[in-house]
Amino acid sequence: MSEIRFYNTFSKKIEPFEPVEPGKVKLYSCGPTVYSHPHIGNFRSFLMADLLKRFLEFKGYTVNHIMNITDVGHLLDDADEGADKLEEVARKEKKDPLEIAAYYIDSFNTASEMLNIKPADSYPRATEHINEMIEMVQTLIDKGHAYVVGSNVYYDVTTFADYGKLSGNTLDDLNAGARIEVNDEKRSPQDFALWKHDPKHIQQWDSPWGRGFPGWHIECSAMSVKYLGEQFDFHTGGEDNIFPHHECEIAQSEGASGKKWVKYWMHGRFLMFDGEKMSKSKGNLYTIQELVEKGFKKNAIRYALISSHYRQNYNFTFDGLKAAEQAIDKISQCVFTVKEKAKTNPAMTIRDEVTAFIEKGINGFDEALSDDLNISKALAAVFELVKDANKLTDVTAAEAAAIVEAIEKIDSVLGVLQETDEQIPAEITELAEQRKQAKLSKDWATADQIRDKVTAMGFTIEDMPGHEYRIKKAE
Ligand code: AMP
Ligand code: ZN
Repeated sequence: MSEIRFYNTFSKKIEPFEPVEPGKVKLYSCGPTVYSHPHIGNFRSFLMADLLKRFLEFKGYTVNHIMNITDVGHLLDDADEGADKLEEVARKEKKDPLEIAAYYIDSFNTASEMLNIKPADSYPRATEHINEMIEMVQTLIDKGHAYVVGSNVYYDVTTFADYGKLSGNTLDDLNAGARIEVNDEKRSPQDFALWKHDPKHIQQWDSPWGRGFPGWHIECSAMSVKYLGEQFDFHTGGEDNIFPHHECEIAQSEGASGKKWVKYWMHGRFLMFDGEKMSKSKGNLYTIQELVEKGFKKNAIRYALISSHYRQNYNFTFDGLKAAEQAIDKISQCVFTVKEKAKTNPAMTIRDEVTAFIEKGINGFDEALSDDLNISKALAAVFELVKDANKLTDVTAAEAAAIVEAIEKIDSVLGVLQETDEQIPAEITELAEQRKQAKLSKDWATADQIRDKVTAMGFTIEDMPGHEYRIKKAE
């Protein structure tokens, strides 16, 4: 059994993995800010966490995974300035911020399901944890890490000796490069807001310091403690989360508890498009839904997004998606062919060379992922197994079963062989589409009739915002 090791952004070293509690892993991932449709860049980061989680489960760990939903406090500018990203959209669209959040949470859920991402155990929302945040801010004030100016509360970064350890941005460097301070309430330009007063903000809550709203960073500190405790194993995010978000989270969590907080920090490098970071602000993005509309398969999108090492940028191309489709076909075809070949040979014997290549494949996959999730090497081991299996001219029933079992075990981590659409009969998808058209032309009677017909056939159509729908097999 190979030792598991991961690169830790905090120590900047590859470290052996030892969970805080034997057999269990607690994992916290920074989730989406729900003010627009998540794009494939966001999903590269979420899929990194999914791959990590599935691999740890493959290794026998029980994983408790928490992913937050940011629905307040994420401002346009990292220096506590600018509008709240979500509220800006709410104002433009003349809608309630919670309505905006609900719409984009649906979009996130749909895309996560399309990508076969295992749901987290809980998706706590910032707006539903204001009390927990207020409590933590009070603790930080009591411990001398934070100060109140009017109705604002700031973290005093000079009180936390480790500030800068994660990102490498020391206070000396930051102060040297600081722009002219726009906020003269702060003792030092690097101090950051824990609680903010702003009469223009739509979502506001009472607090011991007056009405206001929480800073972005405090939500992850407060919610991770609530759901995972004061110390846990993994914290994940994209590389842009390292500073200031995660640097500030460490100062808050460790400042409040006085204990070491996260054991392993894992950050994914960016998904790029035409040489630039894919981002909402640049607008150079694709959503999962858009790619599916273009005819790409969901499992191919998943495969493409996980198939390069998380600590390297991934340059997104349509050719990459096509190659992913071919790679999945190769694995599925192998499963199909060995099953076919075994139909004429019911023997329950397994030749030694077959056992040997299966073990080599599984062990190679395991060893590669144990080495800081080396996915390219892991996939190479899978295709070696496929090649060896394809070489067999005759296959016994037992051999086919063993090969299929190995590939299914591998796919418990890759998650690409089950195309959920294939389980929904074409007839049902057609009916659902007809219902959508009926609804669009406001023919409610026909829409209801079709829904009843689909229900009678054992499926349910769940309506989603924007005339979208999701078909599920009835429980
Ligand atoms: P946001 O919804 O903006 O808060 O971002 C959600 C997650 O997506 C964060 O962990 C970001 O670091 C990550 N992210 C944003 N853009 C990219 C990208 N181009 N590639 C990889 N991860 C990204
Ligand atoms: Zn966070």
